[in-house]
Amino acid sequence: MRLKKVGEFPLIDIISKQANTSHPSVIKGIGDDAAVVSGNSNRCLLVTTDILREDIHFKKSFTTPYLLGKKCLSVNLSDIAAMGGTPFCYFVSISVPPEISLNFIKELYRGMHQRAKEFNAVLLGGDTVSSFKDIVISITLLGKTKKTSVVYRNRAKKGDLIYVTGYPGESALGLLMLKKDKNSFKRHSAVKKHLDPCPRIELGKALADKKLANSMIDVSDGLLADLGHIIRQSKKGAQISLSQIPLSNSYKKECLKFSKNIYKPVLFGGEDYELLFTSAVPNKIKIKHLSKKLGVPITCIGEITESSKNIIVLDSSNKKMKIKNSGYRHF
Ligand code: ADP
Ligand code: MG
Repeated sequence: MRLKKVGEFPLIDIISKQANTSHPSVIKGIGDDAAVVSGNSNRCLLVTTDILREDIHFKKSFTTPYLLGKKCLSVNLSDIAAMGGTPFCYFVSISVPPEISLNFIKELYRGMHQRAKEFNAVLLGGDTVSSFKDIVISITLLGKTKKTSVVYRNRAKKGDLIYVTGYPGESALGLLMLKKDKNSFKRHSAVKKHLDPCPRIELGKALADKKLANSMIDVSDGLLADLGHIIRQSKKGAQISLSQIPLSNSYKKECLKFSKNIYKPVLFGGEDYELLFTSAVPNKIKIKHLSKKLGVPITCIGEITESSKNIIVLDSSNKKMKIKNSGYRHF
């Protein structure tokens, strides 16, 4: 059977079933934003890895090598944020064609180091190979936290409120703008969000340390796809309302010029690198305070329901919407 018939997540399932994944030091293996490895006493290591491939994840003509370097590290940092951890060190493997300039590589690493410096992460190694044409960048990032602070995808509880940070859909709008006219829109906030997303490390850690999140994931594949991971792994359902999802003013102003449906980028667009988490109702006030303290918008968009493993989306007149697909498909 060809991979396009299998799909990304069933494939990961097949890989994981084929492998030996249990070890006395492993607290969580395949299936979350990062693996969790036991350390001394209450400490643990978080390990995450991500690949960015030219013409799939980025186009050289849309970005600069400096911003690309920042983004490559940010997508990994975002996975550590989703576990509630603190970044520690990273390894970078690159596959690049011989024709590429040395300056491109220097700028790529300058971007990575800049982002790493902001979050106290250090480069510890990697690998370098040549490619025929495309650039491929693979980063493995390690983070640390307390075993008792880790936030998993699979612990959402019935009645939990579902929260999202920032403004989902902006990154997808930014990509639509770049595709339409990369020069005219290069200073738009949505384009900035797409090319230079900022991982929510401080917030993820605060939510984890204060025990304000029962489950958490970062939004990389799209709001519905990533909420889908939480509910399937938690064996629950979810109900969200379109009218509760936050849209920035500039998004509202520009979106309809690029997408027929204002909610399509919000629900299905990927690469927001915002946090999506669930929390018990009484934490509402504490979450509001945290949002104010860190200056990060956090909005309740729905709640966790019985174990249907389905997401019900209510439209602006509170009617159930029919949802056909759910996020980015790799195959
Ligand atoms: P994220 O979107 O948070 O980066 P993914 O959806 O890429 O997470 O991966 C989900 C889980 O599957 C993670 O635990 C990841 O390590 C694992 N995974 C993904 N691809 C592979 C693979 N080819 N082999 C083994 N594990 C994989
Ligand atoms: Mg993730």
